[in-house]
Amino acid sequence: MAGKPPFGDPVQDAPEVEEPQHAAAGLPAVGHTLRMARQQMGVRRTALTLLRVNQKDGFDCPGCAWPEPEHRHRAEFCENGAKAVAEEATLRRVTPEFFAAHPVADLAGRSGYWLGQQGRLTRPVYLAEGAEAYEPVSWERAFDIVAEELDALGSPDEAVFYTSGRTSNEAAFLYQLFAREFGTNNLPDCSNMCHESSGSALTETIGVGKGSVLLEDLHRADLIIVAGQNPGTNHPRMLSALEEAKANGARIISVNPLPEAGLERFKNPQTAKGLTGRGTSLTDLFLQIRLGGDQALFRLLNRLIIETEGAVDETFVAEHTQGYEEFTEAARAADWDETLAATGLQRAEIEEALRMVLASERTVVCWAMGLTQHKHSVPTIREVVNFLLLRGNIGRPGAGVCPVRGHSNVQGDRTMGIFERPADSFLDALEKEFGFAPPREHGLDVVRAIRALRDGEAKVFFAMGGNFVAASPDTEVTEAAMRRARLTVHVSTKLNRSHAVTGARALILPTLGRTERDLQGGGEQFVTVEDSMGMVHASRGRLEPAGPRLLSEPAIVCRLARRVLGESSATPWEEFTKDYATIRDRIARVVPGFEDFNARVAAPGGFALPHAPRDERRFPTATGRAHFTAAPVEYPELPEGRLLLQTLRSHDQYNTTIYGLDDRYRGIKGGRRVVLVHPEDAAALSVEDGAYVDLVSEWRDGTERRAPGFRVVHYPTARGCAAAYYPETNVLVPLDATADTSNTPAGKSVVIRLERA
Ligand code: SF4
Repeated sequence: MAGKPPFGDPVQDAPEVEEPQHAAAGLPAVGHTLRMARQQMGVRRTALTLLRVNQKDGFDCPGCAWPEPEHRHRAEFCENGAKAVAEEATLRRVTPEFFAAHPVADLAGRSGYWLGQQGRLTRPVYLAEGAEAYEPVSWERAFDIVAEELDALGSPDEAVFYTSGRTSNEAAFLYQLFAREFGTNNLPDCSNMCHESSGSALTETIGVGKGSVLLEDLHRADLIIVAGQNPGTNHPRMLSALEEAKANGARIISVNPLPEAGLERFKNPQTAKGLTGRGTSLTDLFLQIRLGGDQALFRLLNRLIIETEGAVDETFVAEHTQGYEEFTEAARAADWDETLAATGLQRAEIEEALRMVLASERTVVCWAMGLTQHKHSVPTIREVVNFLLLRGNIGRPGAGVCPVRGHSNVQGDRTMGIFERPADSFLDALEKEFGFAPPREHGLDVVRAIRALRDGEAKVFFAMGGNFVAASPDTEVTEAAMRRARLTVHVSTKLNRSHAVTGARALILPTLGRTERDLQGGGEQFVTVEDSMGMVHASRGRLEPAGPRLLSEPAIVCRLARRVLGESSATPWEEFTKDYATIRDRIARVVPGFEDFNARVAAPGGFALPHAPRDERRFPTATGRAHFTAAPVEYPELPEGRLLLQTLRSHDQYNTTIYGLDDRYRGIKGGRRVVLVHPEDAAALSVEDGAYVDLVSEWRDGTERRAPGFRVVHYPTARGCAAAYYPETNVLVPLDATADTSNTPAGKSVVIRLERA
């Protein structure tokens, strides 16, 4: 019955293992979707709510950032999108009585799954200094508490304002405005932990830190390379786009250490073939690469392209790029043996990939965390750009770069100014528009914020959404750092781990979800988001809010700003709360590409932001040309008797939100503490399938980190590579293990040993 969590307590983590699957979606996905939705929302609300997701007059899915097709299906969502919606529109409620019954110490002992299943937060709660449990507090008092602690700081830079990618454009713009008027650029966001490496590499090489393809480009491509990404679980509607591209004659190469069902075959539940037939085979060539071997692969492919007569688009290279000579010199040095060692691939596989590349006239490369969370991720993504520039595959219909964002508005938040290293041009525009001098000194990203909290340099942590503590690396260090804070504040819709790891004082501020009606003084409001391909569109909630005491994200920021900044702030916070169109008018004057914002976003489906490389083959880099780069090739070295671990999601998971304990496509049921190991590696390490081990990571400074009690699952991973779920294994990722340049936690190549439990 909707309204009650479907389990007692504690949650048993007892994984069972069956054969992995070889096709994604289909009838089982429909069944799982409806069952989970009914458990959370009941039948009627399920129908009402799911039929509004991703519709032009509906609300944007709070899941990933995959774009909407021009033509929307009646059911325009995937299984995991439905789970995200159901968890937000759940009928379960977390009441003051719940907090009385569950002191913080009790909450700290619960699993993320259990916390998330308790339901929606309904009113602000406060954990006083020395208290054991959260108690209800008024909004006014809550803002007073934040103001007290911010006022007590020695510098605005002792405060950290974190943003998760669910935050709308309007709330994000106001949040950065408040933080900067308060006096700091400490605006870390979840992008620091996911696609920061993409932004760094693309900004340097093509001048824009975003993907250059639209959905129709994917449909028109004749070769799509999907590298370091598992769309079947993390961007499921991408499979529809791949299916359409295949129908148009495209070929697909997937590059991944794991054979993922969603890259093998797609049973599209929107079609009879998908519901009753075998569906559509997707991947034509599966390159089962070693973790961190992607730069070496693309470097060798680039050498082979250069060595192939007529394969390089000389005209494009001459007209639009620079650095070609230095790059070709480096590429010609790529060595077959070293590449085969770095990638674990066979020569014939790479030669087949080359044949497919040379046969292609319109190539798109898609990627996700499998490329962005390594020490050498930025050089790896630069090498992907080299690969596309060589044959002029940027700024051509059906071709380009496609980093696929994992959070519904993570790209929009960055566009709105949520960035610890803002461009001077953005700060200049902000100063001109609002009449105050924003701070110019760059702020803290996620990893630096954790260090600052650990070292007592940051004392107030404010989070707009998210689950910072669980999403971050080096869990024990991060949790200890958070507990050193004077005050931790979380604007949230549901309970999570971060609410149980508090500063001396803590607040949980419940906010409206995407699915809910947002009524303000100026009437019903809508917000906007930007998807992974730079499309900006409206999102209108329709459900009654989960409680009468919820505030919208914009209202929370505006009321907090007025309380903290006082009457001396000339910014019209109250006006912004009443009517979000006034926020968009300011965005239109500050953020390039948003001119006439309100009129353009009123159009059904919204509008595409400009992208100079895509739209005009103009590259707004330092030189006005696209940059070839020639970084040395890197790949992780593996000591004897060790494995390279990647942290990843199960199919019943979205970022750190756990929807269930199954990972259906990989054949895992009823548990999450599993480690996937190749049978031959397991034999070499004498660990049989079903054995229980501790995972121990070894860091270059000699420190070790332990994650106890994982069931070994013999699994067809790439040799030497293992896989296990986060957040359970984030404890193994050292805080200092980050990507060069982007400082993104390197959670995809952690050196571990297995120790019998
Ligand atoms: S593909 Fe992403 S955005 Fe689309 S419905 Fe699924 S989770 Fe939501």
